[in-house]
Amino acid sequence: MSDPGVVAPVQPLPPLVDGLGRAITYLRLSLTDRCDLRCCYCSAGRAALVPREQILSLEELARVAQGLIRLGVRKVRLTGGEPLIRRDVMTLVRTLGGQLAAGALEELTLTTNGRHLARYAADLAAAGVRRLNLSLDTLDPARFAAITGGGRLEPVLQGLAAARQAGLAVRLNCVALRGVNEDEFDRLLAWAGEQGCDLCLIELMPLGGGEGAGEGEAPYRPEHYLPLPLVRQRLARRWTLTDSPYRSGGPARYLTVAETGGRLGLIAARSERFCGGCNRVRLTAGGALVPCLGRPGAFELRPLLRRQPEPLSELALEHALRTAVAQKPAAHDFDHGRNPALALVPRCPISRTGG
Ligand code: SAM
Repeated sequence: MSDPGVVAPVQPLPPLVDGLGRAITYLRLSLTDRCDLRCCYCSAGRAALVPREQILSLEELARVAQGLIRLGVRKVRLTGGEPLIRRDVMTLVRTLGGQLAAGALEELTLTTNGRHLARYAADLAAAGVRRLNLSLDTLDPARFAAITGGGRLEPVLQGLAAARQAGLAVRLNCVALRGVNEDEFDRLLAWAGEQGCDLCLIELMPLGGGEGAGEGEAPYRPEHYLPLPLVRQRLARRWTLTDSPYRSGGPARYLTVAETGGRLGLIAARSERFCGGCNRVRLTAGGALVPCLGRPGAFELRPLLRRQPEPLSELALEHALRTAVAQKPAAHDFDHGRNPALALVPRCPISRTGG
C-alpha cells in the first residue's frame, strides 16, 4: 500500500516525436493569413483569405501552443501573414511569455515585416521576447516598393530602430532573388553589421504554381531562384566567411563575417537537404497543424477544438497533436530541378501556412 503522505512524482509526458523519431521542439504559430504587404514571391494578398469565423481565436491558438509546449515544444515563433496586424496580439504574446517565465518555454520569437514594430517593440521585450526576424529584401526604397507591391521602406527601418532600442536582437531575413536583389547582398551584409544585426539569406521556395497560378497559389517565378552555394562563393570574394557552430534553433546555417563581426545565415531550403534534422511543425491561423512546409498535407484541429457539446479534453488534444506529428513526412519536395512535375504541386500558400 502506498503511503498517503508521499506525493508521487509527476511523470513527464513522453516526448513528441514523429514517425521517424525526430523530436518536435519548435512551433511556428501563424496568427493570421492577412498581410499588409504583397511581396512578389509570397501569396499574401492573392490567395483566397480564410473566412474570419474560421480563424482561431487567440485563446484557441494559445491552447494548441500550450498543448504542444506540454509535449516538449521549447521554441515558439509567431508568424503569419503579418503577426503584428492581429488585433490584441499582445494578449497572446503575454500568455506565451508566461510560459517563458515559468520555464516551460525557452524562446518566444516572431517573424515580421517590421511595419508595426515601432509600436510594439518595447511591449514585446517586456513580455520576454529577446530576438526576432525582420524581413528586408532591399535597402532601396523604389525596389522595396516594387518587391512588396507598393510598400514603404521607412516604417520598416523605424521598426528596426525601435527593436534595437528595446534591446531586441534582430536577424534580417532576405529572400535571394536572381535579377532582383542579387546586386545588394554586399551592401546588406555591411549594413546589417553596422546595425548590429545578423543577415540571413533565404532561397526562394517554390510554394505554388508559376505566373498566372490559380487562386491560393504563390506567384512562384522559377527564373528568380538563386542557389545560395553560388551566393556564398560570390560573397567570399569580398568577405572573410567562416563556418560557425552557432544555431538559432531553425534551419539556418551560420557563417561568421570577420570584417563586420556579425553573422551571415543561409537557409538553403532547396540546394541543401536539412530535413533529417527538422524539429518543426506549423499551426495555421485556421487551425491546421502542418507537419511540413514543403509538402501538401495538414491535420485539421479546428473541428476538434470547437467540438460541441462535449469540449475537447486535454488528453484528446494531446492525442490529436501526437497523431498529426506522426504524419510528418521524411522530406520536403522542393526539388523541382530533379522532377519538374513537382514544381506545380499546389501547396498551401505560405501566408496561410505561416512563414
Ligand atoms: N509577414 C511576416 C514577414 O514578412 O516576415 C511573416 C510571414 S512571411 C511569409 C515569413 C518569411 O517567409 C519572410 O521572411 C518571407 O520573406 C518568407 N517567404 C515568403 N515566401 C517565400 C518564398 N516563396 N520563398 C522563400 N521565402 C519566402
